[in-house]
Amino acid sequence: MTSSPLVKELMVCNPIVCGLDTKVREAIKIMEDHHIGSVIVVDKFSRRPLNIITHKDIISAIYHSMLDNTVEELIELLQKRELITIREDEPVIEALRIFEEKGIEHLPVVNSEGFLVGIITGTDILKGLPRFALIDPLTGLENRRVLDYLNHKLSVQKAREIYVLFVDIDNFKKVNDTYGHIFGDKVLKEVAQRILDSVRTYDNVIRYGGEEIVVVLHRVGEEDALKIAERIRENISSLSFEEHPEVKITASVGVAPYKESLFKTIELADKAMYLAKKRGKNRVEILRESP
Ligand code: GH3
Ligand code: MG
Ligand code: MG
Repeated sequence: MTSSPLVKELMVCNPIVCGLDTKVREAIKIMEDHHIGSVIVVDKFSRRPLNIITHKDIISAIYHSMLDNTVEELIELLQKRELITIREDEPVIEALRIFEEKGIEHLPVVNSEGFLVGIITGTDILKGLPRFALIDPLTGLENRRVLDYLNHKLSVQKAREIYVLFVDIDNFKKVNDTYGHIFGDKVLKEVAQRILDSVRTYDNVIRYGGEEIVVVLHRVGEEDALKIAERIRENISSLSFEEHPEVKITASVGVAPYKESLFKTIELADKAMYLAKKRGKNRVEILRESP
């Protein structure tokens, strides 16, 4: 029997930090540059974590016109509570308990001397926890069990620049029927890889059904979501296979903006995909509202 992994096994090391005297404007830039949702405020000399600035705080900073103030002034104004941290040798389940109880999403990780050694978020845990249970063995993509976690996470998240893509391989049954299932499996693996190559590391790529793949794009607007969908479509259509050079693989992609829940959004993206099939396949369609 395996016990729960430790925080240090799933945390991100070398967390991004700033000082109390950092300008809020710079802190925003740091977050943008690293595509992260928080930056840990540390004591410059001891590197002890003092506080954490998250997207939520940035919104308050903009509201209070504090972009040119220091992080220290922002913390004072917001009367931010004392920083909650977790020790690196605690079990991951303890981090989950703190997330749940305190309603937070980012936990700075400290060693036994109280020095900052990492940061752990819900996403890190989701990605690292029961690998065997959440990963599809054929493609290496996440499987649909991830959706429950993700649905919960997204439903408590305030900022929702989320789009779902529903990718379905065109005429895949014919590929199987003509070339056999082994080759079909190979195509599926390659398609999965092409999709992974087309998105950013923090997006979720989930094998939803047999030859259906759901992509959850975080922090994007419609224009970028459509661009990524188009890139996926193109990257799939440029696949070629040495053993069967005549084979041409294409996919239809449905796009939908976040709705009441992740599941509702997937439903809408599925409808958009169906529209793409109806309009000739190997294309991208978007549905903003349920027809
Ligand atoms: P459409 O363009 O309308 O999507 O046609 P299609 O043939 O892709 O759609 P359909 O849903 O009729 O067929 C999906 C096929 O995908 C059925 C099955 O043969 C194949 N499939 C599903 N899962 C796997 C798998 O794990 N491996 C292989 N090799 N084939 C699979
Ligand atoms: Mg299908
Ligand atoms: Mg299909």
